[in-house]
Amino acid sequence: MRDNLEKIFEKIEKGKRITFEDGIMLLKKGSLAEMGFYAQKIRYKLHPKDFVTYIIDRNINYTNVCETKCSFCAFYRDEKDRDAYTLKIEEVLEKIDETINLGGTGILLQGGHNPKIPFNYYVELLKAIRKAFPQIHIHAFSPPEIVFFAKNFKMSVGEVLKELKKAGLMSLPGGGAEILSEKTRKKIAPRKANAQEWIGVMEKAHQLKIKTTATMMFGTIEKDEEIVYHLDLIRNLQDKTKGFTAFIPWTYQQGGKAKVKAEKTPYTKYLKVLAFSRIYLDNIMNIQASWLTQGLDIASVALHFGANDVGSVMIEENVVREAGCLNRTNEEELRKMIVNCGFVPIKRTTLYKIVKTS
Ligand code: SF4
Repeated sequence: MRDNLEKIFEKIEKGKRITFEDGIMLLKKGSLAEMGFYAQKIRYKLHPKDFVTYIIDRNINYTNVCETKCSFCAFYRDEKDRDAYTLKIEEVLEKIDETINLGGTGILLQGGHNPKIPFNYYVELLKAIRKAFPQIHIHAFSPPEIVFFAKNFKMSVGEVLKELKKAGLMSLPGGGAEILSEKTRKKIAPRKANAQEWIGVMEKAHQLKIKTTATMMFGTIEKDEEIVYHLDLIRNLQDKTKGFTAFIPWTYQQGGKAKVKAEKTPYTKYLKVLAFSRIYLDNIMNIQASWLTQGLDIASVALHFGANDVGSVMIEENVVREAGCLNRTNEEELRKMIVNCGFVPIKRTTLYKIVKTS
C-alpha cells in the first residue's frame, strides 16, 4: 500500500494528474500531514504569493418556503408555517443598500423551491437590483433552483438561464450539490435535482458564459468513494468548460429540522477532504475554507491545507444558522486571522478579481 501511495505522491510532485483510483487510495490511506503538504505545494504553484482572498457580501434568501423538503435541511418551511416568508422586491433592495454601505460588492441570492412564486418575480427582482445597484454583483440561483424553475415554468434549463441572464444574473452559486452521487442523494435529497441535472445546469451556464462555483456538503452518510466521484464529475466538466471559479467543501450541520442522523465530522476529516480537493481539482484555481461551518480556528488551519480563500464576511446568513451553527465574523476579524497565519488578506470580487490590497 505504501508503494502505491508513494507513486501517487511522485505523480503530484511531477505535476501529473492523479486518477480516480489514485484519488480513492489517497483519500482513504493518505495521512493528514501528507495531504496538507502536497495540497500546499499545489496551492503555491497556482498562487505563488501569500495572498488569501475574501469577499464582503450577503446571502439573501428570498423565500424559505420549499416543496423539496431535503432531509438534511433545517432551513425550509411549509407555506402554512408561521415563520414562512417570501421577501418583497423592496425588502431585497433594502438589504442590498445595507450591504453596499457595509462595503459589500456582491449578493448571493438563493431560496427554497416555492411553487407559488411566478417566474416574473425572479425576472423583476433581477431587473430591479440591476437598475438600483448597477455596481453590485448578482450571484444567484443554484442549479436545483434552476431545475425547479425549468420544471415549474415548463421551460428548458437553457431558456431559464438566458432569461435570468438577460434580466441581470451574473454568475451562479454552486450550492445544492451536496454529494453528486445518486446513492446518497436519493436518501438525503430524493426530490432535489439529481447529480446529472446539477452538472447539466453548470454545463449550460458555462456555455452561456455564466461563471459558477462548485460546492460539496459531506459528512452525512456518503462513503469516501462518493466524495472522489463528486470531485471527478466536477473536474471532468471543468476540463470541458473552464467555467468554475472555485470549489467550496463544507460539512453537514446537524440541528434544527435537519433529520439526517450522522456523527459530527471531525476537523481532521474536514481538513483532509479540503486538502484532497486541492490535490484532485488541479484545474480549479480557488479552494475556499469554510469558517462558517468550521469556525475561525479551523479555517486558519485550512490555509495550510490547500485553501487560498476564506469566502465571505457574510453580512447575513440564514441556512446553516437554522441548523444551530452560529459562527459569525467581520472583516477586521477575518483579516486579522489571515495575517496571524502568515498570509496577506486581499479583498476580492465574486469572480475572484482583486478589489483592494494592503
Ligand atoms: S436544501 Fe434547498 S431544496 Fe432542499 S429543502 Fe432546503 S431549501 Fe429546499
